[in-house]
Amino acid sequence: MTIKNVTVAGSGVLGYQIAFQAAFHGYKVTVYDISDEVLEKAKAKFDLLSEAFKKDLNATDEQLALTFGNLSYSKDLGEAVKDADLLIEAVPENPHIKKEFYEKLAAVAPEKTIFATNTSTLLPSALAPYTGRPNKFIALHFANDIRIYNTAEIMGHSGTDKAVFDLLFSFAKSIGMVALPIYKEQPAYILNSLLVPYLDAALELWGKDVSDIQTIDKTWMVATGAPFGPFGFIDTIGINTAYNIRKMKAEATQDPIKILTAERLKEEFLDLGKLGTSSGEGFYQY
Ligand code: NAD
Repeated sequence: MTIKNVTVAGSGVLGYQIAFQAAFHGYKVTVYDISDEVLEKAKAKFDLLSEAFKKDLNATDEQLALTFGNLSYSKDLGEAVKDADLLIEAVPENPHIKKEFYEKLAAVAPEKTIFATNTSTLLPSALAPYTGRPNKFIALHFANDIRIYNTAEIMGHSGTDKAVFDLLFSFAKSIGMVALPIYKEQPAYILNSLLVPYLDAALELWGKDVSDIQTIDKTWMVATGAPFGPFGFIDTIGINTAYNIRKMKAEATQDPIKILTAERLKEEFLDLGKLGTSSGEGFYQY
């Protein structure tokens, strides 16, 4: 098994970054999405991303021309996957969409194609039955702004072939990622298993008026040497995302502090257009 041709399914927030990253590192990449209109949007996003590659990674015009030469596009799944050694799935985080996608994919993909999901919250074992090839199915989980925050968590399910795991580990490194092996299925992988409770704890301290945002961040930064604290971190993730997660937890638990913090995030920040670094202001000004 070798990987030369990669198909990325879904060209949204994560998919277009993964496609560009792999193309930049020399892979032939086909971008698959549901319509020509969405694919045109992806092309425009690649232009912006190439500027970020110049700025952040000193990418040369020649490297970027090669990258664009490595990219092709299709809205026909059979066509998009016909030569793929690896398909990376980055379709919406919705179990029904993912299930339907894998059922369609299983019917048209060549036998050799390895399927990797970038899902953030689903376990690969939950999707494996729909892939038609559970032994060649694995999770390859990226962060965001992957050219800079370049973690790739590699996590199989109990039926994933060891050779597939090892190959994906090498592939992740070959596209400039720090490859992180996960030996057992774990909801939220390593990163979010650590990060989510940490951010939740900070929001609870604020929600209970134990202290203020600046003091909570300062405590963490001074004591650990970290460049920013939990609220500074939420600013980069986006307060909207923190709010959505918080709201879901509030609804599920009916916990008064979770309900209160969700409301405060909305009223004191989102309703005032303070979304975090992306809008120039969140808990802090940028
Ligand atoms: P997104 O909504 O931005 O993009 C999804 C893309 O999939 C869109 O381009 C959409 O047109 C396309 N799509 C919709 N239905 C499709 C279908 N049936 N077949 C093919 N494409 C389809 O989503 P995203 O944020 O890029 O997330 C994609 C995956 O990556 C999710 O599983 C998510 O959990 C994961 N992820 C997201 C982040 C993040 O920060 N956004 C980080 C890590 C992992």
